[in-house]
Amino acid sequence: MEKRRTRVRFAPSPTGPLHMGGVRTALYNYLYAKQNGGDFIIRIEDTDSHRFVPGAEKYIIEALAWCGIKADEGVDESGNVVSVASDKHPHAPYRQSERKPIYRQYAEQLVASGNAYYAFDTAEELNAKRAEAEGAGQTFIYNQKTRMQLRNSLTLSAEETARLLAERTDWTVRFKMPENTVVAMDDLIRGHIEVNTDTLDDKVLWKRADELPTYHLANIVDDHLMEISEVIRGEEWLPSLPLHYLLYKAFGWTDSQPRFAHLSLLLKPDGKGKLSKRDGDKLGFPVFPLRWVNPEGEVSRGYREDGYFPEAFVNLLAFLGWNPGDDRELFTIDELIPVFSLDRIVKSGARFNPEKARWYNREYLRMKSDAELAALFMPILEAKGVKADAAYVEKVVALIKERATFVADFWDIASYLFVAPAEFVQKDVDKFWKEENVAMALEAADAVIKGSFDLTKENVEEALEGFIRQREWPMGKVMNCLRLALTGASSGLGIADIVSFIGRDEFAARIAFAKEKLS
Ligand code: GLU
Repeated sequence: MEKRRTRVRFAPSPTGPLHMGGVRTALYNYLYAKQNGGDFIIRIEDTDSHRFVPGAEKYIIEALAWCGIKADEGVDESGNVVSVASDKHPHAPYRQSERKPIYRQYAEQLVASGNAYYAFDTAEELNAKRAEAEGAGQTFIYNQKTRMQLRNSLTLSAEETARLLAERTDWTVRFKMPENTVVAMDDLIRGHIEVNTDTLDDKVLWKRADELPTYHLANIVDDHLMEISEVIRGEEWLPSLPLHYLLYKAFGWTDSQPRFAHLSLLLKPDGKGKLSKRDGDKLGFPVFPLRWVNPEGEVSRGYREDGYFPEAFVNLLAFLGWNPGDDRELFTIDELIPVFSLDRIVKSGARFNPEKARWYNREYLRMKSDAELAALFMPILEAKGVKADAAYVEKVVALIKERATFVADFWDIASYLFVAPAEFVQKDVDKFWKEENVAMALEAADAVIKGSFDLTKENVEEALEGFIRQREWPMGKVMNCLRLALTGASSGLGIADIVSFIGRDEFAARIAFAKEKLS
C-alpha cells in the first residue's frame, strides 16, 4: 500500500489564551509533520459562539509564530488565517465558522443513514427532565434509554417531524449511539482501548438555531476533508474518541480514518493535578506563552514577557512528556525534528518544574553571543535612562552572563557598572563599614587612584592586593568595605573587575561619596 502523506493539524478553539500545554500539542504536531516530510495545518475551531473570546485567535497565531512553529496551511505569510480556497490552499477556509455551509449536509446524511435523528425537545423541556431526575437522585442523560420517551424523529410521525423541522428553529441533530456495542480503538500512545456504547450519550452534532455543527461533527468532517493522517491532541479528548470512531464508521470513512495519539496532561510541580494559571501565580511562573489581558482587564504573565527565549521555551516544552532516549537536553526546534518520535512520549502526566524551565533559559542565554545579548540589554538600559556605548555593554555582558538567567537580570547584577549607587544596604553597612576597616580601605583605594598604571583588571588586582598584603591587613574586611562603597552592597562582582570598568575618576568619586555619606 502506498504510504499516506502525513498531514496533521493543530485545532485550537479561540476561547482564551493558549495554555503552554496547547503549545506543546502544536509543537508535537509540527515536529511530527516535519519529520515525516508532511504538512502541518492550523485550523481554528470557532463554532461555539458562546465561548468565543475576541483576540484569542490572534494571540494563538502570534504565540506559535514566536515559538517558530510555522504552518504549511491555515495561516499565510502575514499571519492571517486563510479564508479562501486557492491552488495553494485547496482545503481552505481554515476557520470553521467560515465553513458553516459544509456541515449541514453531513448532519443530514447521518440522519438519512439512520445514524442520527432530529431532536425537538426545547431547553425548558430538557431542564424539566434534568430537574425531575435530580429529584430522584439521578442524572438525566439523553441516550438510548431515554431517547424513546423524548420528542424526536424516532418517536414522532414523519408528518409531525416534517412540520416541526419547517416551523421550528431550535431543533438539533443528535447522534444515535448504538446499543451495547464495543468500540475497539487504538491510540498511538495508549495502545488498545475498548469502550461499551451503553456508557455513552446521544451527542448533539448540529444545531438549527445557529446552523452550526458542534465540535464533534465539525472536527470529524474537517479532519476527513482536510485529509488528516494523524490526530495528535490532548488527553481531555480521549473520552470523545469512541464517538469519533463511530462517526467515521457512520460516514463510511473508516479506511481513511486518521490514527490517534492522545497526549497526557501537564501536571503541577508537585504532580498533583493539572497545571493551572493559579499554580503559576502562586509559584511565580507563567503558564501562557505570551502575556494575555482578558476582556475584563485581568493580566496573565507570559514566557515572552518574562524574558524567556523562544528557543528555551520550545526546548523545555518538548521535554515535558518526551525525551530523546539519551542524556542530551538541548535541542533547537530544527534539531528536534529528526529525533522526535511519538513512541517516546510518556503515558503518564508530565510534571512541570519551574527551576528546570529557568535552567533552559540560562543555557540558551550562555549560548548567545555577547553582541546579541548587548543588543537585547540596550533597550533596558535606555529605559533606565542610561546611555552606554555598545562596546562597553558587550564587555559588561561578557563579564556577567554566567550569573544571569534572563537578560533583565543584567541590570540587577551590574547596574553599578553604569550608575553610581545612591543607597547602601544598611545591614552591609552595619557589618562592614567600621572605622578601622574604612581607614584601611581608603588608603588602599588611594594606591589605585594615585597610581599611574592602566586600570586593567590584573593591574588593579595586583595594586590593591599587594598593598593590603604588604601591610598584613585583613583582605576580606578591606575588600568588602571597598565593594560597599563602589556598589552599595558587600556582595557582587570582584573589585578589580568593577574598577577596570568604571575607571579612576568614578572610582575616586564613589569612594568620596561613600565616605561622606556613611562616616
Ligand atoms: N478544538 C479542540 C481544542 O480546542 C481540538 C481538539 C482536537 O484536536 O480534536 O482542543
